[in-house]
Amino acid sequence: MESGKKYAVNEIFLSLQGEGFWTGTPMVFLRFSGCNLRCPFCDTDFTSFTLLTGEEILLKIKETAPEGCRRICITGGEPSLQLDSPLTDLLHGEGFILHIETNGTHPLPEGIDWVTLSPKSDFVPSAEVVIGSCDELKVVYTGQDFRKWESFPAINYFLQPCSCSNTGEVVKMILENPKWRLSLQTHKYIGIA
Ligand code: SF4
Repeated sequence: MESGKKYAVNEIFLSLQGEGFWTGTPMVFLRFSGCNLRCPFCDTDFTSFTLLTGEEILLKIKETAPEGCRRICITGGEPSLQLDSPLTDLLHGEGFILHIETNGTHPLPEGIDWVTLSPKSDFVPSAEVVIGSCDELKVVYTGQDFRKWESFPAINYFLQPCSCSNTGEVVKMILENPKWRLSLQTHKYIGIA
């Protein structure tokens, strides 16, 4: 990788995956700066950034990952606005397993190992999903008709309370719609990043 391209990176840190299928799994989080949406409940700081080359990102990830921790959660903001094949190839080449958390409004590079789609078109009408499938569909529930997402090709379907505020309502919805499973923002409950 020699292009010298720089990526706007908000932060790189080690934590546990807080949400969805991989909850509780240690991962290095690569948070890109910037998002194309402005969801009303967004609580993520994606505005500050440092410009880093792919090699600098790889070095920082290697410094951050303890031995045996090979999973990288690529998130944002909206990571697909910046993530490209040269960077995924570089990280794969070092044996990392790549997860991405995306709003689905922008195509993804080929070969990402685990795609978590959290669609936002229920909140931002222009946020049309353009990716065709995912490993994990994670819908933030605020009372909308989430069942329409059951026809979207996914392996796992998660319903998640909005900012930990309506968990009882989400539990009730899942009991009535057992295709779905509960996703909690466990990192918020235990006070980690
Ligand atoms: S897509 Fe995610 S990061 Fe972007 S505004 Fe919505 S909640 Fe925030």
